Amino acid sequence: MSKVMLITGASRGIGAATARLASRRGYALCLNYRQQADAANQLVAEIRAHGGQAIAVAADVADEAQVLRLFETLDREYGHLDVLVNNAGMLERQMRLEDMDGARLSRVLAVNVVGSFLCAREAVKRMSTRHGGQGGAIVNLSSVAARLGAPGEYIDYAAAKGAIDSMTIGLAKEVASDGIRVNAVRPGIIHTEIHASGGEPNRVERVKASVPIGRGGYPDEVAEAILWLASEQASYTSGALLDVSGAR
Ligand code: NAP
Repeated sequence: MSKVMLITGASRGIGAATARLASRRGYALCLNYRQQADAANQLVAEIRAHGGQAIAVAADVADEAQVLRLFETLDREYGHLDVLVNNAGMLERQMRLEDMDGARLSRVLAVNVVGSFLCAREAVKRMSTRHGGQGGAIVNLSSVAARLGAPGEYIDYAAAKGAIDSMTIGLAKEVASDGIRVNAVRPGIIHTEIHASGGEPNRVERVKASVPIGRGGYPDEVAEAILWLASEQASYTSGALLDVSGAR
């Protein structure tokens, strides 16, 4: 039986690259997205055309009822879960703290923090040997913003990723004896559409001078780290925060 991987936010960017690589490595995939059904369905068709297994499921990870429905669909279609990639994340327009209103702060924390917690909770219920599961792995998408702080751009997003780091460390310890490993990948500046949602589509070009390797990263390069942390090759790695940031 194929191992089953759920990737949140898999219609584009790092999530989609992770899906393509995971399919090549033999995983059956549940690909979550929020809005872009066409992109998600196209990715499912591409994976199936190459002989892989995938379904696409719409759900806003910040909405508990939708997360429950996502996992019910997963249960119905695959019957078990081996790996959760908590990848769905977002940021909003670049600004200083003085200009951030409460609604924005709630949205940023709801998607990036609460969404990851809700999905991790549902994954643990299914994977934990304490609940009759077979064990598994959770890979959280944090960011180097958690340690750089993103001043003048989005310290709310950076703080949300800081919370993901703490959750990774705590949950890894909490479920270690239940057969579940929990790790985080902290990408640096990666070529995806996320920068456009901050109002600066060419952010990678501006920031790349500050990256010691001298360029932005590509989603495939992040996917390789995610797939390694998910795999049996990382059997003694848990509670790790792995920077994939060109030494930034
Ligand atoms: P992206 O290109 O903007 O794609 C975001 C993905 O997340 C899309 O599939 C989107 O779905 C989905 N999504 C957004 N909000 C969601 C929600 N509430 N519920 C479910 N899905 C949601 O982002 P990316 O750059 O690939 O980023 C992926 C992860 O890496 C994020 O956690 C991000 O914070 C982290 N990261 C990225 C970078 C970077 O430089 N790119 C650096 C550090 C960390 P729709 O297509 O349906 O909207």
